[in-house]
Amino acid sequence: MFADRARIFVRSGKGGDGHVSFRREKYVPAGGPDGGDGGRGGDVIFEVDEGLNTLIDFRNVRKYKAEDGEPGGKKNCRGKDGQDIIIKVPQGTVIKEAESGKVIVDMSGENRKVVLLQGGKGGNGNQHYATSTMQAPKYAQPGQPAKELELLLELKMIADVGLVGFPNVGKSTFLSRVTNARPKIANYHFTTLNPNLGVVDLEGTKGFVIADIPGLIEGASEGVGLGHEFLRHIERTKVIIHIVDAAGTEGRDPVADIYAINKELEAYNPDIAKRPQVIAANKIDAIYDTENSPVEAIKKEFEPMGIAVYPISAVSGQGVKELLYHVNEMLEEISEEVTVFEQEYFPELAAFQDSDEPYTVSYDEEEQEYVVEGPRIEKMLGYTNLESEKGFTFFQNFLKETGILEQLEELGIQDGDTVRMYGLSFDYYK
Ligand code: GDP
Ligand code: MG
Repeated sequence: MFADRARIFVRSGKGGDGHVSFRREKYVPAGGPDGGDGGRGGDVIFEVDEGLNTLIDFRNVRKYKAEDGEPGGKKNCRGKDGQDIIIKVPQGTVIKEAESGKVIVDMSGENRKVVLLQGGKGGNGNQHYATSTMQAPKYAQPGQPAKELELLLELKMIADVGLVGFPNVGKSTFLSRVTNARPKIANYHFTTLNPNLGVVDLEGTKGFVIADIPGLIEGASEGVGLGHEFLRHIERTKVIIHIVDAAGTEGRDPVADIYAINKELEAYNPDIAKRPQVIAANKIDAIYDTENSPVEAIKKEFEPMGIAVYPISAVSGQGVKELLYHVNEMLEEISEEVTVFEQEYFPELAAFQDSDEPYTVSYDEEEQEYVVEGPRIEKMLGYTNLESEKGFTFFQNFLKETGILEQLEELGIQDGDTVRMYGLSFDYYK
């Protein structure tokens, strides 16, 4: 069971319909129109809650609906607005459109409260439609419809440092020694299925957050398929502490183990494999062969690659401080920014992102310009505000996703060439 992934359904509120009615006054046979406007439908809002660190709540409740706006009433009575629904999630939750898996918003960094779907606008009551020739309009505007989406929530924790290594090398022991986290320590695999986070308080430093990524190899190597589920959590870590059982207490070869884990990381995401690593050669208290020290073998293999090797004992604490200070230095060299996943899916614009209306990409010899046109392009431009950052990001995404960029390249477009789309001309740069 995973608490770091959930699929839910959200729906914004429908706008209330406008009302049709006429004033009734004594001695006045037919009064003017007085139908009120419908209320706004509620928004679907996501908000970061610092107190949460799993998506466990979403296993029980799968549907989240904002309230519909109420219809307008007689006597110019405006319908009540529908209540928004506020969905609380842990920081680091990436919200994706379920079908395509594209990111809508990443609840990290500055994204603390985000309106994911807007409620429908309320319709105008008939009072708005009176004109000199039509004094008794029997028409009112319907409210805008509700919007619905299936979402995939994925929690990618925000830890500075990820711990990786085979089962039983001492990851949990290390985490409990250096942080406030209290993970289960045991000599069996599958100790915990949720990643553990802990804060390292290191004198003279800002401290940092370490995540133990259990199940990495447990699942992958045993074909249980859990491995990659957990790897998601290290996507954002900046430094990896690779723990290895240097004493070979389970009869393993530490050098081969390090290669095996790195191969697994590489297979999941080459970017993670490139992240700076430090090797913690653990359990040195259990090494009795001082002549052929396995620690030396590890150093000989990995130090020439620029990977530092720290002999430690997570049980006795030997060497641990030195390792932590080194990790702190590595972190200080890396920029402060958290990786925030960019928006790839735009709920309001989804209709023409996925539409199959035609468009063409061609070269205009006379003007020496590339031309992109067709109903789909026209519609997209009509809805997109290129002045806004969000609109511009959507526009760029649209060009990429639809394959227009690729088609332009096939036609031989070069940096600095002009592309024309209806009233719009811009220079192409890769
Ligand atoms: P994990 O599966 O990587 O989280 O490993 P654990 O932290 O659960 O440890 C597995 C076993 O190794 C436990 O029995 C620990 O007591 C033992 N262990 C961990 N660190 C050390 C160490 O530094 N020295 C010795 N001798 N045993 C250790
Ligand atoms: Mg463990």
